[in-house]
Amino acid sequence: MTATIDIQITKTTASRLSETDFNNLPFGKHFADHMFIADYEGGEWKNLRIVPYGNLSLSPAISALHYGQTFFEGLKAYKHVNGNVGIFRPYKNAERANHSAQRLSMPAIPEDIFVQSIAALVDLDRNWVPDKANHSLYIRPFMFATDAALGVQPSSTYKFMVLTGPVGAYFSKNLKVKIETNYSRSCEGGFGYAKAAGNYAGSLLPSAEAMKEGFDQLIWTDAKNHEYIEELGAANIMFIINGRLITPSTRDTILKGVTRDTVIALAKHWGIEVEERRVAVAEIIQAIKNGQLTEAFGVGTAATIAPITEIGHEGQLYQLSDPSTREFSNKTLKTLNDIRYGVIPDEFGWNYIVG
Ligand SMILES: *Cc1c(COP(=O)(O)O)cnc(C)c1O
Repeated sequence: MTATIDIQITKTTASRLSETDFNNLPFGKHFADHMFIADYEGGEWKNLRIVPYGNLSLSPAISALHYGQTFFEGLKAYKHVNGNVGIFRPYKNAERANHSAQRLSMPAIPEDIFVQSIAALVDLDRNWVPDKANHSLYIRPFMFATDAALGVQPSSTYKFMVLTGPVGAYFSKNLKVKIETNYSRSCEGGFGYAKAAGNYAGSLLPSAEAMKEGFDQLIWTDAKNHEYIEELGAANIMFIINGRLITPSTRDTILKGVTRDTVIALAKHWGIEVEERRVAVAEIIQAIKNGQLTEAFGVGTAATIAPITEIGHEGQLYQLSDPSTREFSNKTLKTLNDIRYGVIPDEFGWNYIVG
Protein backbone atom coordinates (compact mmCIF):
# COMPACT_ATOMS: atom_id res chain seq x y z
CA MET A 1 0.00 0.00 0.00
CA THR A 2 1.31 3.44 -0.83
CA ALA A 3 1.05 6.29 1.61
CA THR A 4 -0.72 9.37 0.34
CA ILE A 5 1.50 12.39 0.30
CA ASP A 6 0.48 15.94 1.03
CA ILE A 7 0.76 18.30 -1.92
CA GLN A 8 -0.26 21.94 -1.68
CA ILE A 9 -1.95 23.12 -4.88
CA THR A 10 -2.05 26.68 -6.21
CA LYS A 11 -4.09 26.81 -9.40
CA THR A 12 -3.43 29.15 -12.26
CA THR A 13 -5.92 31.95 -12.92
CA ALA A 14 -4.80 32.24 -16.54
CA SER A 15 -4.93 28.88 -18.31
CA ARG A 16 -3.07 28.74 -21.63
CA LEU A 17 -5.02 25.68 -22.79
CA SER A 18 -7.37 27.47 -25.20
CA GLU A 19 -4.51 29.28 -26.95
CA THR A 20 -2.48 26.08 -27.51
CA ASP A 21 -2.73 24.61 -31.02
CA PHE A 22 -3.14 20.86 -30.52
CA ASN A 23 -2.78 20.37 -34.29
CA ASN A 24 0.80 21.58 -34.14
CA LEU A 25 2.75 20.16 -31.20
CA PRO A 26 6.51 20.10 -31.81
CA PHE A 27 8.29 18.12 -29.07
CA GLY A 28 9.14 19.98 -25.88
CA LYS A 29 7.85 23.43 -26.86
CA HIS A 30 4.48 23.51 -25.11
CA PHE A 31 4.00 23.22 -21.36
CA ALA A 32 0.81 22.55 -19.43
CA ASP A 33 -0.54 25.07 -16.91
CA HIS A 34 1.14 23.71 -13.77
CA MET A 35 4.40 22.29 -12.46
CA PHE A 36 5.45 20.35 -9.36
CA ILE A 37 8.25 21.43 -7.00
CA ALA A 38 9.71 19.85 -3.85
CA ASP A 39 12.67 21.15 -1.82
CA TYR A 40 15.34 19.00 -0.21
CA GLU A 41 16.71 20.60 2.91
CA GLY A 42 18.02 19.32 6.23
CA GLY A 43 18.00 15.77 4.92
CA GLU A 44 14.36 15.60 3.85
CA TRP A 45 11.98 16.43 1.02
CA LYS A 46 9.56 19.17 2.05
CA ASN A 47 7.23 21.85 0.76
CA LEU A 48 5.65 19.59 -1.88
CA ARG A 49 3.61 21.86 -4.11
CA ILE A 50 1.96 22.34 -7.48
CA VAL A 51 2.09 25.90 -8.79
CA PRO A 52 1.41 27.65 -12.12
CA TYR A 53 4.11 26.89 -14.70
CA GLY A 54 6.61 29.74 -14.74
CA ASN A 55 10.15 30.98 -14.25
CA LEU A 56 12.27 30.23 -11.19
CA SER A 57 14.44 32.62 -9.28
CA LEU A 58 17.79 31.05 -8.37
CA SER A 59 21.26 32.10 -7.28
CA PRO A 60 23.76 32.18 -10.18
CA ALA A 61 26.12 30.18 -7.94
CA ILE A 62 24.00 27.01 -7.71
CA SER A 63 26.19 23.97 -8.26
CA ALA A 64 23.88 22.44 -10.89
CA LEU A 65 24.97 25.22 -13.24
CA HIS A 66 28.69 24.91 -12.53
CA TYR A 67 29.30 21.23 -11.90
CA GLY A 68 26.32 19.60 -13.57
CA GLN A 69 24.84 17.96 -10.49
CA THR A 70 21.51 17.35 -12.21
CA PHE A 71 19.59 14.55 -13.94
CA PHE A 72 16.21 14.07 -15.57
CA GLU A 73 13.62 11.46 -16.45
CA GLY A 74 11.12 11.12 -19.31
CA LEU A 75 7.81 9.28 -19.49
CA LYS A 76 4.33 9.76 -20.91
CA ALA A 77 0.64 9.83 -20.02
CA TYR A 78 -1.95 8.63 -22.54
CA LYS A 79 -5.66 9.25 -22.98
CA HIS A 80 -7.31 5.83 -22.96
CA VAL A 81 -10.21 4.96 -25.22
CA ASN A 82 -12.52 4.83 -22.17
CA GLY A 83 -11.58 8.40 -21.19
CA ASN A 84 -9.17 7.48 -18.38
CA VAL A 85 -5.66 8.88 -18.28
CA GLY A 86 -2.87 6.33 -17.78
CA ILE A 87 0.81 6.93 -17.04
CA PHE A 88 3.10 4.27 -18.51
CA ARG A 89 5.28 2.41 -15.96
CA PRO A 90 6.15 5.38 -13.69
CA TYR A 91 7.68 3.15 -10.99
CA LYS A 92 10.37 2.10 -13.49
CA ASN A 93 11.32 5.75 -13.94
CA ALA A 94 11.29 6.28 -10.17
CA GLU A 95 13.73 3.39 -9.79
CA ARG A 96 16.01 4.75 -12.49
CA ALA A 97 15.85 8.30 -11.08
CA ASN A 98 17.27 6.90 -7.86
CA HIS A 99 20.09 5.12 -9.71
CA SER A 100 20.96 8.47 -11.31
CA ALA A 101 20.70 10.29 -7.96
CA GLN A 102 22.94 7.77 -6.23
CA ARG A 103 25.66 8.00 -8.90
CA LEU A 104 25.62 11.81 -8.83
CA SER A 105 25.75 12.02 -4.99
CA MET A 106 22.21 13.39 -4.87
CA PRO A 107 19.47 12.40 -2.42
CA ALA A 108 17.04 9.60 -3.24
CA ILE A 109 13.49 10.62 -4.02
CA PRO A 110 10.97 8.25 -2.38
CA GLU A 111 9.11 6.35 -5.13
CA ASP A 112 5.75 7.44 -3.71
CA ILE A 113 6.70 11.11 -3.94
CA PHE A 114 7.99 10.59 -7.48
CA VAL A 115 4.89 8.77 -8.72
CA GLN A 116 2.21 10.62 -6.74
CA SER A 117 3.58 14.05 -7.61
CA ILE A 118 3.38 13.10 -11.28
CA ALA A 119 -0.11 11.62 -10.87
CA ALA A 120 -1.39 14.73 -9.03
CA LEU A 121 0.08 17.04 -11.68
CA VAL A 122 -1.32 15.00 -14.58
CA ASP A 123 -4.70 14.83 -12.85
CA LEU A 124 -4.83 18.62 -12.40
CA ASP A 125 -3.77 19.22 -16.02
CA ARG A 126 -5.72 16.28 -17.45
CA ASN A 127 -7.31 18.50 -20.12
CA TRP A 128 -3.80 18.89 -21.53
CA VAL A 129 -3.59 15.15 -22.33
CA PRO A 130 -4.31 15.03 -26.09
CA ASP A 131 -6.90 12.52 -27.26
CA LYS A 132 -5.66 12.17 -30.84
CA ALA A 133 -4.00 9.03 -32.20
CA ASN A 134 -0.32 8.74 -31.24
CA HIS A 135 -0.45 11.91 -29.13
CA SER A 136 0.44 11.98 -25.44
CA LEU A 137 1.41 14.16 -22.50
CA TYR A 138 5.18 14.09 -22.12
CA ILE A 139 6.32 14.16 -18.46
CA ARG A 140 9.72 15.55 -17.51
CA PRO A 141 10.79 14.99 -13.87
CA PHE A 142 14.23 16.38 -12.93
CA MET A 143 16.39 17.11 -9.90
CA PHE A 144 19.14 19.68 -9.46
CA ALA A 145 21.56 20.95 -6.84
CA THR A 146 20.76 24.37 -5.38
CA ASP A 147 23.50 25.24 -2.86
CA ALA A 148 24.65 28.75 -3.73
CA ALA A 149 28.35 28.08 -3.21
CA LEU A 150 31.29 27.49 -5.52
CA GLY A 151 33.42 24.51 -4.57
CA VAL A 152 33.26 20.99 -5.95
CA GLN A 153 31.27 19.03 -3.41
CA PRO A 154 27.79 17.57 -3.18
CA SER A 155 25.16 20.21 -2.55
CA SER A 156 23.14 19.99 0.67
CA THR A 157 19.97 21.37 -0.94
CA TYR A 158 18.12 20.27 -4.07
CA LYS A 159 14.91 20.75 -5.98
CA PHE A 160 12.87 17.97 -7.56
CA MET A 161 10.49 19.25 -10.21
CA VAL A 162 8.07 17.91 -12.80
CA LEU A 163 6.97 19.63 -16.01
CA THR A 164 4.47 18.25 -18.51
CA GLY A 165 3.50 19.15 -22.06
CA PRO A 166 1.39 17.77 -24.90
CA VAL A 167 3.29 16.13 -27.75
CA GLY A 168 2.08 15.10 -31.19
CA ALA A 169 2.56 11.98 -33.25
CA TYR A 170 6.19 11.12 -33.63
CA PHE A 171 6.63 10.16 -37.26
CA SER A 172 9.31 7.53 -37.04
CA LYS A 173 11.35 8.47 -40.04
CA ASN A 174 13.70 5.89 -41.46
CA LEU A 175 17.07 6.43 -39.84
CA LYS A 176 20.39 6.59 -41.61
CA VAL A 177 22.90 6.04 -38.83
CA LYS A 178 26.65 5.99 -38.46
CA ILE A 179 28.60 3.63 -36.22
CA GLU A 180 30.73 6.05 -34.19
CA THR A 181 34.34 4.96 -33.84
CA ASN A 182 35.95 8.17 -32.64
CA TYR A 183 33.85 9.85 -29.94
CA SER A 184 32.39 8.06 -26.88
CA ARG A 185 29.20 8.76 -24.95
CA SER A 186 30.28 7.00 -21.77
CA CYS A 187 33.02 4.79 -20.41
CA GLU A 188 33.46 1.95 -17.95
CA GLY A 189 33.36 3.29 -14.43
CA GLY A 190 31.59 6.41 -15.70
CA PHE A 191 27.95 7.36 -15.45
CA GLY A 192 26.46 6.51 -18.83
CA TYR A 193 23.72 4.56 -17.05
CA ALA A 194 22.52 7.73 -15.30
CA LYS A 195 20.21 10.18 -17.08
CA ALA A 196 22.72 12.88 -16.14
CA ALA A 197 22.47 16.17 -18.02
CA GLY A 198 26.21 16.09 -18.77
CA ASN A 199 25.90 12.94 -20.88
CA TYR A 200 23.69 14.86 -23.30
CA ALA A 201 25.90 17.93 -23.48
CA GLY A 202 28.78 15.66 -24.49
CA SER A 203 26.76 14.02 -27.25
CA LEU A 204 25.84 17.23 -29.08
CA LEU A 205 29.09 17.71 -31.00
CA PRO A 206 29.42 14.07 -32.18
CA SER A 207 25.75 14.16 -33.32
CA ALA A 208 26.23 17.43 -35.16
CA GLU A 209 29.29 16.03 -36.96
CA ALA A 210 27.40 12.87 -37.96
CA MET A 211 24.60 15.06 -39.32
CA LYS A 212 27.09 17.09 -41.33
CA GLU A 213 28.13 13.81 -42.96
CA GLY A 214 24.49 13.19 -43.92
CA PHE A 215 23.47 10.86 -41.09
CA ASP A 216 20.42 11.31 -38.85
CA GLN A 217 21.93 9.81 -35.76
CA LEU A 218 24.84 7.74 -34.48
CA ILE A 219 25.37 4.34 -32.92
CA TRP A 220 27.60 4.57 -29.86
CA THR A 221 30.25 1.91 -29.37
CA ASP A 222 32.37 1.00 -26.33
CA ALA A 223 34.91 3.66 -25.38
CA LYS A 224 37.82 1.23 -25.16
CA ASN A 225 38.08 -0.19 -28.70
CA HIS A 226 34.86 0.87 -30.45
CA GLU A 227 34.25 -2.82 -31.11
CA TYR A 228 30.91 -3.33 -29.38
CA ILE A 229 27.58 -1.65 -30.01
CA GLU A 230 26.01 0.20 -27.07
CA GLU A 231 23.15 2.59 -27.92
CA LEU A 232 21.47 4.59 -30.70
CA GLY A 233 21.76 8.29 -29.81
CA ALA A 234 19.52 8.71 -26.76
CA ALA A 235 17.71 5.40 -27.32
CA ASN A 236 18.55 1.74 -26.80
CA ILE A 237 19.22 -0.41 -29.86
CA MET A 238 17.88 -3.80 -30.94
CA PHE A 239 18.34 -6.21 -33.85
CA ILE A 240 16.46 -9.19 -35.21
CA ILE A 241 18.97 -11.77 -36.40
CA ASN A 242 17.84 -15.25 -37.45
CA GLY A 243 14.48 -14.53 -35.82
CA ARG A 244 16.05 -13.74 -32.44
CA LEU A 245 15.93 -10.42 -30.61
CA ILE A 246 19.50 -9.32 -29.91
CA THR A 247 20.32 -6.27 -27.78
CA PRO A 248 23.39 -5.07 -25.85
CA SER A 249 23.18 -6.11 -22.19
CA THR A 250 22.96 -3.16 -19.81
CA ARG A 251 26.08 -2.16 -17.93
CA ASP A 252 27.49 1.07 -16.48
CA THR A 253 27.91 2.53 -19.98
CA ILE A 254 24.32 1.90 -21.08
CA LEU A 255 21.07 3.58 -20.02
CA LYS A 256 18.51 1.05 -18.83
CA GLY A 257 15.53 2.07 -20.97
CA VAL A 258 11.99 1.41 -19.83
CA THR A 259 11.00 0.87 -23.48
CA ARG A 260 13.85 -1.63 -23.83
CA ASP A 261 12.57 -3.55 -20.82
CA THR A 262 9.01 -3.41 -22.19
CA VAL A 263 9.94 -4.67 -25.68
CA ILE A 264 11.98 -7.53 -24.17
CA ALA A 265 9.01 -8.52 -21.98
CA LEU A 266 6.70 -8.58 -25.02
CA ALA A 267 9.17 -10.61 -27.08
CA LYS A 268 9.53 -13.21 -24.31
CA HIS A 269 5.75 -13.29 -23.90
CA TRP A 270 5.47 -14.14 -27.60
CA GLY A 271 8.02 -16.92 -27.28
CA ILE A 272 10.73 -15.10 -29.21
CA GLU A 273 14.27 -15.87 -28.10
CA VAL A 274 15.97 -12.85 -26.54
CA GLU A 275 19.73 -12.45 -26.23
CA GLU A 276 20.99 -9.68 -23.95
CA ARG A 277 24.75 -9.73 -24.37
CA ARG A 278 27.65 -7.84 -25.85
CA VAL A 279 27.02 -7.22 -29.55
CA ALA A 280 30.10 -6.79 -31.74
CA VAL A 281 30.08 -4.33 -34.63
CA ALA A 282 31.68 -7.08 -36.76
CA GLU A 283 28.82 -9.46 -35.98
CA ILE A 284 26.22 -6.91 -37.12
CA ILE A 285 28.06 -6.10 -40.35
CA GLN A 286 28.44 -9.83 -41.07
CA ALA A 287 24.73 -10.48 -40.35
CA ILE A 288 23.75 -7.68 -42.74
CA LYS A 289 26.04 -9.07 -45.45
CA ASN A 290 24.72 -12.62 -45.21
CA GLY A 291 21.07 -11.53 -44.97
CA GLN A 292 20.46 -12.84 -41.45
CA LEU A 293 19.78 -9.39 -39.99
CA THR A 294 16.16 -8.54 -40.85
CA GLU A 295 15.44 -5.62 -38.50
CA ALA A 296 17.38 -2.93 -36.63
CA PHE A 297 15.72 -0.24 -34.54
CA GLY A 298 16.04 2.19 -31.66
CA VAL A 299 13.70 1.95 -28.65
CA GLY A 300 12.81 4.83 -26.33
CA THR A 301 9.90 6.79 -24.88
CA ALA A 302 9.96 9.46 -27.61
CA ALA A 303 9.77 7.34 -30.77
CA THR A 304 8.86 3.92 -29.27
CA ILE A 305 10.34 2.05 -32.27
CA ALA A 306 12.64 3.96 -34.63
CA PRO A 307 13.51 1.91 -37.72
CA ILE A 308 17.13 1.97 -38.90
CA THR A 309 17.31 1.60 -42.68
CA GLU A 310 20.94 2.49 -43.43
CA ILE A 311 24.10 1.88 -41.40
CA GLY A 312 27.40 3.56 -42.20
CA HIS A 313 30.64 1.98 -41.00
CA GLU A 314 34.21 2.80 -42.04
CA GLY A 315 33.12 4.53 -45.24
CA GLN A 316 30.72 1.74 -46.28
CA LEU A 317 26.94 2.20 -46.33
CA TYR A 318 24.78 -0.86 -45.69
CA GLN A 319 21.09 -0.96 -46.67
CA LEU A 320 18.54 -2.68 -44.44
CA SER A 321 15.01 -3.92 -45.11
CA ASP A 322 11.98 -1.75 -45.87
CA PRO A 323 10.34 -0.94 -42.47
CA SER A 324 6.87 -1.86 -43.76
CA THR A 325 8.04 -5.48 -44.11
CA ARG A 326 9.33 -5.75 -40.53
CA GLU A 327 7.18 -8.21 -38.64
CA PHE A 328 8.56 -7.82 -35.12
CA SER A 329 8.89 -4.01 -35.13
CA ASN A 330 5.39 -3.47 -36.48
CA LYS A 331 3.73 -6.00 -34.18
CA THR A 332 5.54 -4.52 -31.16
CA LEU A 333 4.59 -0.95 -32.00
CA LYS A 334 0.94 -1.90 -32.51
CA THR A 335 0.74 -3.91 -29.29
CA LEU A 336 2.49 -1.26 -27.25
CA ASN A 337 0.14 1.44 -28.54
CA ASP A 338 -2.89 -0.76 -27.86
CA ILE A 339 -1.76 -1.20 -24.25
CA ARG A 340 -0.85 2.46 -23.72
CA TYR A 341 -4.16 3.75 -25.07
CA GLY A 342 -6.17 1.12 -23.21
CA VAL A 343 -7.39 -0.59 -26.39
CA ILE A 344 -6.47 -4.08 -25.13
CA PRO A 345 -6.25 -5.42 -21.56
CA ASP A 346 -3.08 -4.44 -19.71
CA GLU A 347 -1.96 -7.97 -18.79
CA PHE A 348 1.40 -6.75 -17.55
CA GLY A 349 0.11 -4.07 -15.16
CA TRP A 350 2.06 -1.35 -16.96
CA ASN A 351 -0.56 1.43 -16.88
CA TYR A 352 -0.86 3.59 -13.74
CA ILE A 353 -4.41 4.85 -14.04
CA VAL A 354 -4.84 8.41 -12.81
CA GLY A 355 -8.63 8.08 -13.21
C1 LIG B 1 16.22 8.05 -22.00
C2 LIG B 1 17.24 7.24 -22.73
C3 LIG B 1 16.94 5.98 -23.30
C4 LIG B 1 15.55 5.43 -23.39
O1 LIG B 1 14.93 5.19 -22.18
P1 LIG B 1 13.35 5.04 -22.09
O2 LIG B 1 13.12 4.83 -20.64
O3 LIG B 1 12.97 3.87 -22.91
O4 LIG B 1 12.77 6.30 -22.63
C5 LIG B 1 17.99 5.24 -23.84
N1 LIG B 1 19.25 5.72 -23.88
C6 LIG B 1 19.56 6.94 -23.39
C7 LIG B 1 20.97 7.40 -23.44
C8 LIG B 1 18.56 7.72 -22.81
O5 LIG B 1 18.86 8.93 -22.33
